[in-house]
Amino acid sequence: MILCDKCDKEAIIKQDYSGSYLCKDHFHESVESKIKKHIRKNYSINDGEKIGIALSGGKDSIVVLHILNDIFGEWKDLELVSLTIDEGISGYREEAINFAKKDSKKLSIKNHIFSFKEEIGYSLDGIGEKVGKEKTCRYCGIIRRWLLNKKAKELDLDKIAVGHNLDDESQSALMNFLRGETERLETLDTDTSYKKGFVPRIKPLREIPEKEVGLYAKTRKDMNAHFASCPYSDWALRGEIRDILNNYEKNHPGAKYSILRGVEKTAPRIKEVTESANLDECKLCGEPSNNKICQACKLRRKLRKK
Ligand SMILES: [Zn+2]
Ligand SMILES: [Zn+2]
Repeated sequence: MILCDKCDKEAIIKQDYSGSYLCKDHFHESVESKIKKHIRKNYSINDGEKIGIALSGGKDSIVVLHILNDIFGEWKDLELVSLTIDEGISGYREEAINFAKKDSKKLSIKNHIFSFKEEIGYSLDGIGEKVGKEKTCRYCGIIRRWLLNKKAKELDLDKIAVGHNLDDESQSALMNFLRGETERLETLDTDTSYKKGFVPRIKPLREIPEKEVGLYAKTRKDMNAHFASCPYSDWALRGEIRDILNNYEKNHPGAKYSILRGVEKTAPRIKEVTESANLDECKLCGEPSNNKICQACKLRRKLRKK
């Protein structure tokens, strides 16, 4: 039995990047303190604000829900709500949506559910039939982001919290390089408040490795989280990058953190350039867009024509 470095209980994890063995309690403490520190350092959250949590019911967003409630639940003047997008994926989303509802209710956080079917007329399964399985993930990502921002504004949210963890963020950064889309590194910066028309995002799990988010969710008895991965998920490039990064991290612990530190140095420079390139409003939906018609509306139009 390997013991915790901080007490004499059994260790449940070795954090390779820090070299520490931690028991359940000290592991929880490590995750929670990293999240609190990240929030304090990067986001200003004030009395009177309304914060939305993008809650799929998967492990990442469920952890965000509980931890933000732990941190801010006692604040009298701060309102937490959760937003669940029901894409309409039969046999997959039902359980996760139940967890989203159940845990929101348990914490007395109002849960708003918006469905693709009601909002754009098609469920994701329906989209899949029209555009083919391989394109479905892309449609889903664009429409989900669009819907979340639109609803966040309708609900008057000051910020929206998303569940992206250290692995998601470092994979995205590396993908931006491999595709030559380094201007997109800007979107990985912690500060998104300068983007007109977008509700600023906060990423409480940005400093937490995926493996630790999973272990945290499994070892907190008060959480119900969904662990399956989406049947439409497009693992082609991201899956490759994930393997490369995980292998690299094994030999060079801390590499994922290094990538994020690099993004933080680069993103402000990119922002200086892109800030001047003003975003327009989409002529059809009014959401921010680089073109006259936003990507989501283009896809919606394509669907109607098919
Ligand atoms: Zn301990
Ligand atoms: Zn639009």
